[in-house]
Amino acid sequence: MSKALHSFLEENLKELRDQGLYNEIEPVEGPNGPIIKIKGKNLINLSANNYLGLATNAQLKEVAKQTIDVYGVGAGAVRTINGTLDLHVKLEEKLAEFKGTEAAISYQSGFNCNMAAISAVMDKNDAILSDALNHASIIDGCRLSKAKIIAFNHSDMTDLRNKAQAAVESGLYKKIMVITDGVFSMDGDIAKLPEIVEIAKEFDLITYVDDAHGSGVTGKGMGTVKHFGLQNDIDFQMGTLSKAIGVVGGYVAGKQNMIDWLKVRSRPFLFSTALPPADVAAITAALQMLIDSTELHDQLWENGDYLKAGLKKLGFNIGNSETPITPCIIGEEKLTQQFSRRLLEEGVYAKSIVFPTVQKGTGRVRNMPSAAHTQAMLDDALVIYEKVGKELGIIN
Ligand SMILES: *Cc1c(COP(=O)(O)O)cnc(C)c1O
Repeated sequence: MSKALHSFLEENLKELRDQGLYNEIEPVEGPNGPIIKIKGKNLINLSANNYLGLATNAQLKEVAKQTIDVYGVGAGAVRTINGTLDLHVKLEEKLAEFKGTEAAISYQSGFNCNMAAISAVMDKNDAILSDALNHASIIDGCRLSKAKIIAFNHSDMTDLRNKAQAAVESGLYKKIMVITDGVFSMDGDIAKLPEIVEIAKEFDLITYVDDAHGSGVTGKGMGTVKHFGLQNDIDFQMGTLSKAIGVVGGYVAGKQNMIDWLKVRSRPFLFSTALPPADVAAITAALQMLIDSTELHDQLWENGDYLKAGLKKLGFNIGNSETPITPCIIGEEKLTQQFSRRLLEEGVYAKSIVFPTVQKGTGRVRNMPSAAHTQAMLDDALVIYEKVGKELGIIN
C-alpha cells in the first residue's frame, strides 16, 4: 500500500473512532422483517424502510423463484445493448399506470436514478433550487450535473419564491429546476407541493419530486404527488423500489418525450447492467398488489398512528410527522445514543440519528413502523420505551 494512503486511512479512522463516530455494522441474521435477529437475539425492528412488509412477502418470493427458473439470475447486459428483457418493459408500463403518467423508466437503485436523471437534463448553463434538507443522492445528482445549486430553507416557500425570482432575473440560466423530497425521512413531514407547483408555473421551473418515502405510503399508496392530485404538474416523479415496494431499484415517471430522452442520455441506463429478472418480476407484482388493494397501506397507517399515540401518551416528544415515520426527539447527542443502546439491550432496534444528519441538539431515535408489525409487537416496544425513558430521565 502507498505510504500516503496508509497514513490517510490510519489517521482518519483513528479520529472517527476516538470521537465515537465510527459506525460498527451489526449484520441481521435472517430476513429483515418486523422481528430481526442480531447476535442471536430477537429484536422488534423499528428501523427498516420496509413499510408494507413486502421485502419478505410470500407471494413476491414465489414470483421471484419462478422467474429465476425461466430467466436465470442476471439480465446479462446494459439496457441499451440487450439487457432490456420483456419483463423490464412490463415493469415500466406498470410504473406509469401506478403513477398516472404517460411513461416511466427504471434504474438499478434510487440513488443512481437521481445521479442519472438530474444530470441528463441539467448542465452548467442551468440552476437547481434545492430544499436544504434534500437527500444525499439528490445533492450528489445536482453536483454531477454541474448546474448552479441554490439551496432554499427547508419547506420555506417565501425563500423559494425569492430565490426563483432572483435566478430568473439574473438572466444567467437557460433552465431552472426546483427539486424536493416528497416526504422528508428524518421528521416525516410532507413537501408543500401545491405551493411549489404554483411558484414553478410563475417562473417556468422544471419540477422534480423524489418520493422515496412517499410511494406506497402517501396518496393511498400512490405517492405524494397523487396525494395532492398534481400528476399533471410535476415533470419528474422519481421514486425508489427498495422501500415500500420491498425489492430494489429506482424510477422516474413522466411525459413520454422526457422518458425517451432519459433512455438515450442517462448514463447508468446506458453503462450499468439492468436490474435482475427476478427482482423486476417481484416489483411488478408488488405494484399490482398496491393498485388492486389499499389493505397494506391502511394497516401501515393504523400501526403508525398506534405507535405515535402510545409514545405521546408516555410523554415523548414525537415532533410533527405527517406520515408513519415516528421520530422520538431526545435532544442531546450522547443521551440519544445511550437511549438507542438501552432500547437495543431491552429488545427494540431503533437507530439513533444525530448531528450532522439532523441539527445539533435535535438528536432522535427514529421509528419506522410497518404493515407487518402486530399490535402485540408495538405494545412490547412501548413497554420497553417506558422503562428506558424513565431510567434515563427522559419521561416521568
Ligand atoms: C432512500 C432514498 C433514496 C435512495 O434510494 P435507494 O433505492 O435506496 O438507492 C433516494 N432518495 C431518497 C429521498 C431516499 O430516502
